[in-house]
Amino acid sequence: MSSENTYDLVVVGGGPAGLTAALYAARERMKVVVVEKLACGGEPVKAGLIENYPGFPEGIEGGDLAVLFREQASRFGAEFAEFQEVTGLIRSEDDYEVTHTGGSFRGKAILVSTGGEPRALGIPGEKELTGKGVSYCATCDGPLYRERPVAVIGGGNSAMEEALFLARFASRVFLVHRREEFRGAKILEERLRANERVELVLSARPVGIEGKEAVEALVVRQGGRERSIPVSAVFFFVGVKPNSGWLQGVLELDEAGRIITDEGMRTSLPGVFAAGDVRSGNLRQISIACGEGTVACLAAREYLQETANKPGQIS
Ligand code: NAP
Repeated sequence: MSSENTYDLVVVGGGPAGLTAALYAARERMKVVVVEKLACGGEPVKAGLIENYPGFPEGIEGGDLAVLFREQASRFGAEFAEFQEVTGLIRSEDDYEVTHTGGSFRGKAILVSTGGEPRALGIPGEKELTGKGVSYCATCDGPLYRERPVAVIGGGNSAMEEALFLARFASRVFLVHRREEFRGAKILEERLRANERVELVLSARPVGIEGKEAVEALVVRQGGRERSIPVSAVFFFVGVKPNSGWLQGVLELDEAGRIITDEGMRTSLPGVFAAGDVRSGNLRQISIACGEGTVACLAAREYLQETANKPGQIS
């Protein structure tokens, strides 16, 4: 393989962790490429207004923040291979080959920052009506339900934020959570309780979705009884599953499939690092993902120096 395709660091996944690592790597004059299955940006792109990323007192739209992250890394020389899905990681004597849908890259060090994707709940009607009212992305599909009633499932930060977002369009938002207490931030609970368009349906478990061509109702079990709530859409935010399927049997993963690392973001393979939502123990905050990307890049730099794979010296 030509040296053109050989990098000091191959970053797999262009969300906040990967883009921060790429920024740091480029500034260290490491040859770095970010391989991303979509356009770079990651979770923030789906997040709407982000109010807890420091430096933006009025908040910043997630899509705008993602563009800034990418621009900043690009300015210092990071390269990008977007719309390329990574399929495998192959170890050779002193580097790795990262295969993707458009070819492959060689990397002396690798950072896996592939994030996660929304988990399905698996209730009757959910799969059949996905794309016909069942959704896992309020930013993508919310505006389709202007002045129509919708349901949101979950009690974490995602469900709470997205319920508030949807209340800007929908006639009514039923937030269905299986407990009385929310998992997400108190400020979001205050806003939800104060929002006239939001109805909290607590201690309620979704048991099915009704509708033939499109969602017509969500059925929940509450207090031993079943209740049918007429809605045009159901948005699920019941947690996230890591994008690590391609690493089964390659890296050490925890029970949930997240990559196990030490405090230096080092995985079970030398020269392979992990950061962000795909990492075991990560707390799924953009600021944390950025911090982990930084740590991973510095650890990768140290690794390259120790193994005499000096950054920038690609023959
Ligand atoms: P999460 O915090 O894991 O919450 C998932 C929610 O789904 C929980 O309320 C959970 O209920 C509920 N749930 C899980 N399984 C269920 C089931 N079988 N039936 C009914 N309900 C079920 O997931 P998330 O909201 O996607 O957030 C993931 C992480 O990202 C969190 O660490 C979160 O803080 C972070 N995040 C942060 C922000 C932010 O800072 N602005 C925004 C979004 C996400 P229980 O509460 O009863 O377990």
